[in-house]
Amino acid sequence: MKPCMAKRAMCAAWCVMAMLTALGATAQESTNGFAFADFLLAPLRVHLLTATNEPGIHTTLNSNDVTRILSKVNRVWAQAGITFYLESLRTEPAANTEGFRENVKTNNDALLRLRPESSRDTNVFHVYYLKQFGPNGICIRGINFVKDTASLRPVEGGLDEPLPRVTSHELGHALTLPHRQHITNLLASGMSGGWLNESEINQARAAARKKSWVQTAPGVLQMADELQRANKTADAGALWQRITHVPLDSDPTRLARRRAEELAR
Ligand SMILES: [Zn+2]
Repeated sequence: MKPCMAKRAMCAAWCVMAMLTALGATAQESTNGFAFADFLLAPLRVHLLTATNEPGIHTTLNSNDVTRILSKVNRVWAQAGITFYLESLRTEPAANTEGFRENVKTNNDALLRLRPESSRDTNVFHVYYLKQFGPNGICIRGINFVKDTASLRPVEGGLDEPLPRVTSHELGHALTLPHRQHITNLLASGMSGGWLNESEINQARAAARKKSWVQTAPGVLQMADELQRANKTADAGALWQRITHVPLDSDPTRLARRRAEELAR
């Protein structure tokens, strides 16, 4: 991180500029002082829960929605030099739907019970999408749930739709961040803002680094390159694909996009 960042972080005008950089469509060589070499790559398993007998659970989101949501999540988290790559997308029946509607208002276990056993893992972040429950989203012991029907109060410079913001907010909790009720903050409740302050950025990065399954972007780049040279193209392709999620316009991300496209042909 650039040494001048602490000073800059107190400048309101810079906050707005950083937000535009983080959330805007134009990729840059670095974001908020974080270049490719600083980025951490975290695996995210997305679950679209279905339930034929329970419309309150059955999500109507599809893979295009997930792609759009994840792209916006990564623009938010670029301000902390963290990228979530899609480890896998699981469209799957909710495990235990009995009594869900009655119990979900008072008992978080009703949400946890929806998780299919076979797709649980301890070496990825999980986000489960379902249609309806009390809050917009919740992070329970690091496991994230987001409802399709989330709604937020718009704030200046905030995200243009609720689901990427709610998903980013819950991932913030999963990275140990508590609520901070400043109006444009990512960890404010019920608002559309996506801003993190320097201390939150440091805390989230430290939490990510503690997980052995979160990799550094240069480490992934090196592995992809080695696999490519060993003609292990499928394995290399999976790693190039991870790097394509980093929302920067830099030599490594351009190379990764080109490689991923070549391998997809
Ligand atoms: Zn929260």
